[in-house]
Amino acid sequence: MITFEDVTKRYRDGTVAVADLSLEVPTGAITVFVGPSGCGKTTSLRMINRMIDATSGRITLDGQDVREIDPPTLRRGIGYVIQQAGLFPHRKIVDNVATVPYLLGWSKRKARARAMDLLELVGLDPGLAGRYPFQLSGGQQQRVGVARALAADPPVLLMDEPFSAVDPIVRASLQDELLRLQSELRKTIVFVTHDIDEAVKLGDTVAVMRVGGRLAQMAGPATLLTE
Ligand code: ADP
Ligand code: ADP
Repeated sequence: MITFEDVTKRYRDGTVAVADLSLEVPTGAITVFVGPSGCGKTTSLRMINRMIDATSGRITLDGQDVREIDPPTLRRGIGYVIQQAGLFPHRKIVDNVATVPYLLGWSKRKARARAMDLLELVGLDPGLAGRYPFQLSGGQQQRVGVARALAADPPVLLMDEPFSAVDPIVRASLQDELLRLQSELRKTIVFVTHDIDEAVKLGDTVAVMRVGGRLAQMAGPATLLTE
């Protein structure tokens, strides 16, 4: 479980991006942070893997303050997927996904085999593994981004608007794919989006944020709809 306990983030220029945020992200479920642009969703996500630190309050992962876990260890347990996939442009698709296994000291053969398994898991045509990122569509690149985030088999996955840059039909199939994957993998997923329909479709729990970085409500998707 991940907890936010009275978390506030004030940037150096005085902007309060997140204010007194307290909530629980249950293990093995998808928690969606939804709200308009600028309401502090990305800031909240980045405080979990310590790309940025909270100004006050604390965030815990399985009971431990994330600031007490050394960043490499913390990040090994947390996969991160962003909007434009963030692939290494000069590496083949298979090597993009195999990067983490290489870093973990796996042999080249084993790392590549792992990468091919992951690409199959996310539904990418294995024939694309030898291509470079620019040769793939946006939706295909996002699948690779998800495969790469899963490479070290992290229990936690942070996803920051991962499907927002692709067209609606591809987006729907990526969402379906994520739900299918999750039914197998049962990761603890924090998913950020500004799209309420996406939040309702994917979230086991939905945290609605409003500008100023405050939590407006947190509920299951069905409850949210009836309000
Ligand atoms: P901090 O170390 O306080 O977390 P950062 O190093 O993330 O701040 O950012 C440094 C500076 O970059 C900020 O003080 C701000 O002026 C500027 N900045 C970066 N991103 C944004 C943004 N989205 N909106 C406004 N200012 C930004
Ligand atoms: P969201 O992900 O919901 O769009 P963000 O977490 O990116 O929101 O930003 C929340 C608020 O903090 C916004 O007002 C944004 O401009 C501001 N902000 C983000 N990064 C910085 C930064 N490095 N320095 C100053 N302000 C920032």
